[in-house]
Amino acid sequence: MSQLEIRNLHIAIGEKEIVKGLSLTIKSGEVHAVMGPNGTGKSTLSKAIAGHPDYTITGGDVLLDGVSILEKEADERARAGLFLAFQYPSEIPGVSIANFLRAAQQARMAEGEEIDASAYYKRLYSKMDLLKIDRKFTSRSVNEGFSGGEKKRCEILQMAMLEPQFALMDETDSGRDIDALRIVADGVNAMRGPNLGVLLITHYQRLLDYIVPDHVHVMWDGRLVKSGDKSLALELEAKGYDWVKKEFAFANS
Ligand code: ADP
Ligand code: MG
Repeated sequence: MSQLEIRNLHIAIGEKEIVKGLSLTIKSGEVHAVMGPNGTGKSTLSKAIAGHPDYTITGGDVLLDGVSILEKEADERARAGLFLAFQYPSEIPGVSIANFLRAAQQARMAEGEEIDASAYYKRLYSKMDLLKIDRKFTSRSVNEGFSGGEKKRCEILQMAMLEPQFALMDETDSGRDIDALRIVADGVNAMRGPNLGVLLITHYQRLLDYIVPDHVHVMWDGRLVKSGDKSLALELEAKGYDWVKKEFAFANS
């Protein structure tokens, strides 16, 4: 059993504080959804945890099984068991998905250790079967000319190959694109299990019709202002975010 703990986290971009003391603990096996209106700091949260250089952690900590990850480089965070879904959004022309994933795998191994090609392909194909991905897909260049859905497929396959303990997924657009939404949902559902914890950030309630979360949190103005189970997501869809803001403002006045 593993645990990812976000402890009273404060994040700034330049001088501006965006995330203002956010705490959340995810245990392996759990799927947590963070929802909230645009501009509330959801992407800032995930990018900062990924180690994006534009974001400064000004307070608090992020701990994986009690050990802070904040001093670690992005690749060390990955080796420690974190998967950050937007980590490789760029196009890499001329590099096939198969070779890219193989290099990523190799990078995680100890120095001097060599990847076993046949074992690698066996594992790759079994993951592709699990995710129902066509074999032809892995000969394409990473993200080059990909549709939104294909980018998601590439990302989900990376996640399956890396077998992370915790996945942070900022699903900025996939709630709008039904194809992308299904790919993410089917992938997460196929990988879901006692060894994986998921933090799913989404603006769109619709994604949560397909990935049913164990916990739902509402983020507003850099903080989590309300938590509940999956029924909270439905309530938000029906009533919007304003009632949560009002409730929070009242409780803190
Ligand atoms: P969300 O994902 O919830 O829509 P974001 O984390 O993208 O919110 O943005 C939160 C706030 O931070 C917004 O006011 C946004 O304008 C600001 N912001 C985000 N990224 C940057 C950046 N790179 N530079 C300056 N301001 C930014
Ligand atoms: Mg965002």
